[in-house]
Amino acid sequence: MNYKYIFGPVPSRRLGFSLGVDIVPTKTCTLDCIYCQVGRTSYKTVERKEYIAPEKVLAEFREVLKSGKKIDYITLSGNGEPTLNLKIGEIIKSIKNISPLPVAVITNGTLLSRDDVRKDLLSADLVMPSLDVAIQETFEKIDRPHPSLKIDKIIEGLVEFRKIYKGKFWLEIMLVKGINDTQIELNALKKAIEKINPDKIQLNTPVRPTYEKDVEVLSADKLKEIKEFFGEKCEILVQLDKRKHEDHVKIISILRDKQKEG
Ligand code: SF4
Repeated sequence: MNYKYIFGPVPSRRLGFSLGVDIVPTKTCTLDCIYCQVGRTSYKTVERKEYIAPEKVLAEFREVLKSGKKIDYITLSGNGEPTLNLKIGEIIKSIKNISPLPVAVITNGTLLSRDDVRKDLLSADLVMPSLDVAIQETFEKIDRPHPSLKIDKIIEGLVEFRKIYKGKFWLEIMLVKGINDTQIELNALKKAIEKINPDKIQLNTPVRPTYEKDVEVLSADKLKEIKEFFGEKCEILVQLDKRKHEDHVKIISILRDKQKEG
């Protein structure tokens, strides 16, 4: 059976067998990151709406569960920013009512400055926001945000969420050579991360082909140096020598293939 909103399970280093749940249409996002694997953001917005009805997602989810496939995590992620779906809180709760599997949310974190979004994510078991920079000018360069988004407010939102959230909280940083890997950028980022206090800091670099040209990866040595700089909570997600890539990008790549097929 072909599913519209569910994909996988995908084997991933961070989450084991992760079943992806896609709750916004391609490509609806608050950002238009230069390293995005899906392509340019066709609908850049900060408006929360019921982009996809919970019943449609849950009907597919029930079917997948019947197949008996090995699943370690249900992961809300996909073709854009999942917190734009106004019903994300209801979807997480319903998934957890239907199955005992843990639910993860991969988000760009931009809407966590909103009270309603913070509340919606409270019932997830794992939240994985990204934060690439702490300086507005660089934020605009690398993540090309919706004009209303300010990085200071986003960082404050992450701090507020961390205070009330009881689940696991892993922060991902996508590092692009020559943009957010300078010492000024890293110092600002470190300061922000200390305030946020995530359980883990996970470093990534865009090893897979990106839609935009000239998006350069960091060397393994540079990544190691940055890992040391961020301290013991920090780990590197990519293995540059094997060109191995992890969760978010892997999921996005599968989605892109799905788009081509259909
Ligand atoms: S990488 Fe994620 S946050 Fe950035 S534009 Fe693509 S879908 Fe949106």
